[in-house]
Amino acid sequence: MDIDFSPQDLEFQREVRAWFQANTPESLKRKVITGQMLQKDEIVQWQRKLDDRGWLVTGWPKEYGGPGWTPTQRYIFDLERAAANAPVGLSMGVIMLGPVLIAFGTPEQKAQYLPRIRRCEDWWCQGYSEPGAGSDLASLKTAAVSDGDDYVINGSKIWTTYAHWATHMFCLVRTANTGKKQEGISFLLIEMDRPGIEIRPIVSIDGEHHLNQVFFTDVRVPKRNLVGREGQGWDIAKYLLTHERTSIAGVADSKAHLANLRAAASERRSGGRPAIEDPALRLKIARAEIDLMALEYTNFRVLAATAAGKAPGPESSLLKTMGTAVQQTLSELDVELAAELAWPWHEQGEFGQGRFAHAMPRYCFSRAATIYGGSDEVQKNVLAKMLLAGGAH
Ligand SMILES: Cc1cc2nc3c(=O)[nH]c(=O)nc-3n(C[C@H](O)[C@H](O)[C@H](O)COP(=O)(O)OP(=O)(O)OC[C@H]3O[C@@H](n4cnc5c(N)ncnc54)[C@H](O)[C@@H]3O)c2cc1C
Repeated sequence: MDIDFSPQDLEFQREVRAWFQANTPESLKRKVITGQMLQKDEIVQWQRKLDDRGWLVTGWPKEYGGPGWTPTQRYIFDLERAAANAPVGLSMGVIMLGPVLIAFGTPEQKAQYLPRIRRCEDWWCQGYSEPGAGSDLASLKTAAVSDGDDYVINGSKIWTTYAHWATHMFCLVRTANTGKKQEGISFLLIEMDRPGIEIRPIVSIDGEHHLNQVFFTDVRVPKRNLVGREGQGWDIAKYLLTHERTSIAGVADSKAHLANLRAAASERRSGGRPAIEDPALRLKIARAEIDLMALEYTNFRVLAATAAGKAPGPESSLLKTMGTAVQQTLSELDVELAAELAWPWHEQGEFGQGRFAHAMPRYCFSRAATIYGGSDEVQKNVLAKMLLAGGAH
């Protein structure tokens, strides 16, 4: 899709494109194209490189180290980053906690944590979900009981992505059991080396260790680690979730994925011809492309609203639902194109030097995309409420 960028935006695009072409390590490109999991060190090194260039915390205000870009520039940046097969990394500190601290943190919390997030000196994980509280997050039970200058934490969090890499967790805890259940929730920062924290791994269907269950037994956390007021955790969590859902849509990465899929379909031969000449496969790729185009237009609408000063609202649910559906379709098409090569035990041979060696694990793990960050059904409930209340913005 062509849109009219201003001459300044086009100049910016050339600069960003050239930087990613010159600076993205081949090893990372390969992992991105084939859908392999990045290790912590790779993400940290890459993010420090971006920060050296001033391009890591692109969504933060200038006074906290952001580059001061317009929403259009941020969009162009993401497009060029993905087109270069450069990873987005997964920094919950940069994408989620940073904006929360900027909006709700004390001056001391901002001074202590924001620079360390930027330099990837701390690794943050998200402690929201519990065994009995996922979609119905407000039912969470992990208790924070006041005791002098500390809270004493007891309970358990589950599905905690990269808790085993984390130095810190931003956590929703229950500080009161009276009134509406949302009103008793607080937002607390917890150092992961505090006595009484135990992390147990959960290996997912792709055979990788992304997830964990975290147990808290009489863990003492100082009250200065509370973000916002006691009982304000639910509002903070909702603020954070709109940021999370908008970023999960992954338009730029799906565009790059589609381009890589097309290239592979031209290279791979099926029945003596390039696979891309198979009408059934072409139709499926075209459908994915149309869905992606619709998603991109929706993303533009959200960008335009953001540029006009509106925070992303229920539109982020639309982006999340549509975006993750496209991601799943593309991973299915990878497996279809790979055919026998998608099986991990298959001899990969010369073709694409193992281009599809990770197609099946990636396909399997991408099923989770319509669960994490709020399940598909829950997003659709949000959208239905918006429509009943008078339609989209
Ligand atoms: C790969 C992965 C990574 C994750 N990372 C993190 C993390 O880092 N930190 C964290 O806190 N959590 C994380 N999660 C947890 C995630 O947020 C929850 O899995 C999600 O919110 C769903 O909750 P649940 O698993 O308890 O399912 P449930 O809430 O029990 O839902 C089960 C099913 O019921 C449906 N359902 C539930 N309520 C409704 C309703 N009202 N209307 C219609 N249908 C409904 C759901 O859509 C789903 O299909 C992660 C999950 C995954 C899979």
